[in-house]
Amino acid sequence: MSIHFLDVGAAYKELQKEIEEAVIFSLQSGQYILGQEVEHFENDFSAYCEARYAVGVGNGLDALRLALLAMKVGPGDEVIVPSNTYIATWLAVSQCGATPIPVEPIEETFNINPNLIESAITSRTKVILPVHLYGQPAELDAILSIARKYNLFVLEDAAQAHGAIYKGKRIGGHGDAVAWSFYPGKNLGAFGDAGAVTTNNYEIADRIRVLRNYGSRIKYINEIQGFNSRLDPIQAAVLRVKLKYLDEWNFRRAEIAGRYHAVLRNSYLLQPVVSTWTQPVWHLYVIRTCQREALRCHLTQAGINTLIHYPIPPHLQKAYTELGYQRGDFPLAEAMADEVCSLPIGPHMSPDDQEQIIAALLDFQS
Ligand SMILES: *Cc1c(COP(=O)(O)O)cnc(C)c1O
Repeated sequence: MSIHFLDVGAAYKELQKEIEEAVIFSLQSGQYILGQEVEHFENDFSAYCEARYAVGVGNGLDALRLALLAMKVGPGDEVIVPSNTYIATWLAVSQCGATPIPVEPIEETFNINPNLIESAITSRTKVILPVHLYGQPAELDAILSIARKYNLFVLEDAAQAHGAIYKGKRIGGHGDAVAWSFYPGKNLGAFGDAGAVTTNNYEIADRIRVLRNYGSRIKYINEIQGFNSRLDPIQAAVLRVKLKYLDEWNFRRAEIAGRYHAVLRNSYLLQPVVSTWTQPVWHLYVIRTCQREALRCHLTQAGINTLIHYPIPPHLQKAYTELGYQRGDFPLAEAMADEVCSLPIGPHMSPDDQEQIIAALLDFQS
């Protein structure tokens, strides 16, 4: 009996009847591109995020890319990104023809260090792109005030932070735009690819609506060279159902994180540190240890699957050799890639599984 890292099918089992009804309703509507189902989800999600607008797109990478394009980012521009993130954050920037400029994280929280941002700003900088990594909000106030000082946009990558709270307000309406992924394994996941952008800026929302639909508002009238990246109405129907359970599911994740904290408090495995002004949603529970291989081996033998988020930082990926970075250029991102380990966490993890993982962690430490 082994413990999966995350059981993505469990959400379907929990809500099977409600989800199937929503999908059948969507099939019967005869509207298979955009339409009511997508609009309803956009309204529900923007209300949930306390943002004025939500625009549904094809996936999280496109949410980032279309938001950057809506901010008029293009060749010659620079965008400040974390040195430790999933590669999608960087890809969105380079796909616009712009250059990702990496900034190192704060070690305790894994999020971009605002104290290092100013020295990375040049006359070409257009956007600061923080990631709420692993579900914990980045230092938004500091980032927003730097952006105001230099007249830059802030685009947040919230692919791991559905429902997270920063200083009493949900992520979704702090920066100029916020990009979301509904990849199945995210805290709010579809049963396929899906994404969205939330914003309080009418122009940005409007541009993304045009960009996602062939650059067109009216069929066969094309204002700009757009893309085909529309949120699928069947996925929108699924997401509308699951959104109602997001807070409850995030609460269950937080309970598991609390149990891990209690076990790891006095251990030499470094537990994630939570800033007092944020409420993370524990997309991942990431610990840090220089004995990672031994730990993973021990857990595997106990039937527990762990993962590494992420084993190679973007600047050392073959995909980015063009930027000319070398090992040693971003030592914190590199150390994290070598030392982080994600423990299983998810809203459908059984109490027995939790006990088994905690027992294995205690056993490793003794
Ligand atoms: C998942 C993820 C994305 C990309 O989302 P997709 O829907 O898979 O394209 C972007 N950024 C981060 C931080 C992610 O975790």
